[in-house]
Amino acid sequence: MSALRARVAGEANVPFFSMSGSEFVEMFVGMGASKVRDLFRQAKEKAPCIVFIDEIDAIGQKRSGGQYGGNDEREQTLNQLLTEMDGFDGSNGVIILAATNRPESLDPALTRPGRFDRRVPVELPDLKGREAILKVHAKKIKVADDVDFLQVARMASGASGAELANIVNEAALRAVRDGRGFATQADLEESIEVVIAGYQKKNAILTDQEKKIVAYHEIGHALVAAKQTNSAPVQKITIIPRTSGALGYTLQVENHDHYLMNKQELENKIATFTGGRAAEELVFGSITTGAANDIEQATKLARAMITRYGMSEDFDMVAMETVTNQYLGGDTSLACSAETQGRIDEQVVALVRKQHEKALSILKDNRGKLDELASYLYEHETITGEAFMQILNAA
Ligand code: ZN
Repeated sequence: MSALRARVAGEANVPFFSMSGSEFVEMFVGMGASKVRDLFRQAKEKAPCIVFIDEIDAIGQKRSGGQYGGNDEREQTLNQLLTEMDGFDGSNGVIILAATNRPESLDPALTRPGRFDRRVPVELPDLKGREAILKVHAKKIKVADDVDFLQVARMASGASGAELANIVNEAALRAVRDGRGFATQADLEESIEVVIAGYQKKNAILTDQEKKIVAYHEIGHALVAAKQTNSAPVQKITIIPRTSGALGYTLQVENHDHYLMNKQELENKIATFTGGRAAEELVFGSITTGAANDIEQATKLARAMITRYGMSEDFDMVAMETVTNQYLGGDTSLACSAETQGRIDEQVVALVRKQHEKALSILKDNRGKLDELASYLYEHETITGEAFMQILNAA
């Protein structure tokens, strides 16, 4: 959310005071409340101005209601904030903004009329937005002259503002660790993987057979993606285990962000999710637990196609599910009869099965390339998109 902070500060032509919720609670006991008082005293003096509180959930979580285990420091800080906000009547020219990734966790007292009573959902940044955010954060560190921020932004598809800030920080740390005075393109690219997939853990215990299975699994995804039209080209695949628990990790770079995906593209995406498991089945004749996340994603997508995007024959443009949480997560609730739910479940299974079969047949048709690519990945532990396409397109 600190990207939001930078944006607000940059566009408001009035004094801007900002503080992060986590800064308040990290202080010594009693300091949080006095810091809040301080902030608002300065704001009143400098009005008209904007007060921005980042990560407000750090202090604004629902209060424990006097139970044991409550965080006194946080509650004192929150109470002080509420008191200060009530002291404004809207005519003194101080606007108070706050940001959070978890609006549902906020204490209801904060969102009462007269306090934070207006919500503005902020979407994840698009390609241009990511590039701009990276550049803002990169100003705080030294970077090589030839860094291509657009390329970094392209690789960090789906990253939030906070994650992009982390990527830049991580790149600076890497440069320091290597004794360099500035961060390079490689630092930034490696940092994407660190921030998104957890730290590299070389020498992790992965048996030879496991490594082979993971290599086939990841190539399975990539090959199914590459063989379907409109699929993103593969940038880099690695089978170096990460501390996050993800074994392999396929990075797909989309050449442009699209907000509209057609039915065909969604089906292809489901097929790509099933490609990992399909390769395991085809090559080893057995299946592993490694596809749990793929299964979850494929199911989610298939379900959304039927219940929310109106992409099934049976239900036409009728919404079977409504999104109840438009922020992160996107929880949904069913809005149909139990009998219809049964039919939805059947259709979800049929949709995923059809794509799974498509993935299997793509891999069968390209078995030679599958073997070649998987053994390259097994050998090198990493394969770039370039090397991948070279092997794929070689006669
Ligand atoms: Zn997978």
